[in-house]
Amino acid sequence: MVNSLSGLDRLTEENVSAAMSVVEETGLSRILVTDNAGRVLYDTRETGGAVGSYVLYTEIVQALLGEDASSCTYQGAAFRSRASSPVLYQNQIIGAVYAYEYDTDQAALLAGLQGNLLRLSGVIALVVLVLSLILSKTLTRRIGLLLNAIQQVREGSYSHRADIRGGDEIAQIGHEFNSLTDRLQITETARRRFVSDASHELKTPLAAIRLLSDSILQTDNIDLETTKEFVSDIEQEAERLSRITEDLLRLTRLDSGVLEAPMPVDVLPVLEQVLRMMNLVAQEKEVDLTYSAAEDCAVLGTRDEIHQVIYNLVDNAVKYTGSGGAVQVALGRAAGEVILTVADNGAGIPEADLPRIFERFYRVDKARSRAAGGTGLGLSIVNDTVKRRGGVVEAANRPGGGAVFTVRWPRLEGGGNG
Ligand code: ADP
Repeated sequence: MVNSLSGLDRLTEENVSAAMSVVEETGLSRILVTDNAGRVLYDTRETGGAVGSYVLYTEIVQALLGEDASSCTYQGAAFRSRASSPVLYQNQIIGAVYAYEYDTDQAALLAGLQGNLLRLSGVIALVVLVLSLILSKTLTRRIGLLLNAIQQVREGSYSHRADIRGGDEIAQIGHEFNSLTDRLQITETARRRFVSDASHELKTPLAAIRLLSDSILQTDNIDLETTKEFVSDIEQEAERLSRITEDLLRLTRLDSGVLEAPMPVDVLPVLEQVLRMMNLVAQEKEVDLTYSAAEDCAVLGTRDEIHQVIYNLVDNAVKYTGSGGAVQVALGRAAGEVILTVADNGAGIPEADLPRIFERFYRVDKARSRAAGGTGLGLSIVNDTVKRRGGVVEAANRPGGGAVFTVRWPRLEGGGNG
């Protein structure tokens, strides 16, 4: 439009109308052409055309100042677009062309788009809501399962396990809980067995004492000799009871983890003291008790506990070796270790029982152990005591028959005070 007007030196109503008549049909709602003062020379608006009057729309003012201007607003379900350009003749502004478009089609399209977006947002929000509900439900269900398992175990059913699948953190907590419960179950089973074994061990001598005292009380005119015999039996049973309780107390102390402060102890003097005492028993049983020992075998511990370890092992060896047997004790050193071996030539220990003899109350031959005055706790005391000071105990059978027990303590360089 500006092109078709730019050939004119002055704009008048007539020459503008003539020039505009050759402009192709634009389909615009309104076209205005003004002169350089803003007076309307041409207006396509059918009703109320402004020809002759001054219209000073912002865009027209801008065009008359020499700039192209355009603006677009969306209002009342329609796009209102305005654009204007100056008409120049030899670089002089001689007027302005103003075009206005009122578009409801695109506005309807936009409104439709807006509506669609709104509905889409609604659907997305709903999907997100449902998904998060499902997610939180599964999460709370799994936590609920775990909680239930914890409650069940707390109430004492140690065999209950949390059934949580997957590889996420909750499943990991479930696995950890299950292995914790496994350990708890093992400990609980061991505790129950220990309590039942201990009660059984205490029950037997108590029953014997009752039986013996009942016999004395209920036998009329019982002679002094028989009474003495029964009372000496009662004394033996009482001794056994006190041995068991002493051993139990010793084990409880070891379990509690409260240890006496260790000091350097030279093993040889302790060994010699035990052997002096055990020699009397060995002679009585006609067992040949011999030893060989190296000097300078110091370990960290207490004299009492080392005495206990050596005593229990030598006592067993003498006890389980028949008369005419031989027990050899050897104390030696190896790289960083003090090694004590107690070997006998008795019946040995059946291979199947070897891994279990350090368990509490475990005996290969119950009757024989009882008859020999055993409590079934001696080797577990040895094992626990040695372990607490960083050592190990092993049991094996000798190729020529008999058993051999080996204790290894970490060696203390520089000797001890004995
Ligand atoms: P106990 O008081 O019955 O001797 P221990 O804990 O000292 O209990 O020993 C456990 C079991 O190991 C014994 O009952 C015995 O069957 C077996 N045992 C221990 N030492 C020997 C050994 N030197 N020879 C054969 N069997 C042994």
